Amino acid sequence: MTHLEIQNISKSFGENEVLDQLNFSVHQGEFVSLLGPSGSGKSTLFGIIGGMILPNSGDVILNGESIKGKRGSISYTPQTPSLLPWRTILNNVLLGQELTGKKDREKALQMIDRAGLKSYENSYPHELSGGMKQRVSFIRSVLSPQSLILLDEPFSALDEFTRTDMQKWLLDMWEQTKRSILFVTHNIEEAVFLSDRVIILSPRPASVLKEFQVPFERPRREELLLSDEFLQ
Ligand code: ADP
Ligand code: MG
Repeated sequence: MTHLEIQNISKSFGENEVLDQLNFSVHQGEFVSLLGPSGSGKSTLFGIIGGMILPNSGDVILNGESIKGKRGSISYTPQTPSLLPWRTILNNVLLGQELTGKKDREKALQMIDRAGLKSYENSYPHELSGGMKQRVSFIRSVLSPQSLILLDEPFSALDEFTRTDMQKWLLDMWEQTKRSILFVTHNIEEAVFLSDRVIILSPRPASVLKEFQVPFERPRREELLLSDEFLQ
């Protein structure tokens, strides 16, 4: 079943034509990676899906209904983490989602620990590196209740080791929760490794240049690349 449908989306900023009649869909529970040159409009597209940016034409359909210009229907992690500077890391994770229960707090603390940020739960964003902030932003998405998650280059500021660990976590989480994921990356290896399908955008004004199903079976990829031995 189709979860998200991008229908003929075009967007210009003044004279700058960014997206040109973009069409693609994400199926229920599918992991789709989106690649494209810098400036091709990937983050703009995420802004449109998240309801922060209005397209000039076209529509965004979630579960059969238009969400164009509507916020809050999907989980959106922007390319630059937008943490609130006056809130601790724990409260950035919890309050962004309006999670207030004891269980939510425990789960958030577990995830902060899982992300390698154990002693930072009471720190403030300015005390964290770019890669640490990215991980906090990622935890917020994972904790959100929405069934479609948009991740805009979530691991770009991480070192190789931490990135592999976060990829493993993302795949585990995805397999457990069966949510749909749309993932922007610059790294074709990361795209092939993580996703079911890869969509490549053309340079600006962007439309879909090419798309392909990843030909490897997931359990085999995990055995090869995500085994604990590989991480040690
Ligand atoms: P990508 O994420 O693929 O690198 P972006 O979506 O960030 O690309 O940017 C695509 C184009 O849109 C760029 O030319 C950028 O300058 C322009 N752009 C993005 N956001 C705005 C904005 N708010 N106002 C004007 N131009 C913008
Ligand atoms: Mg971008």
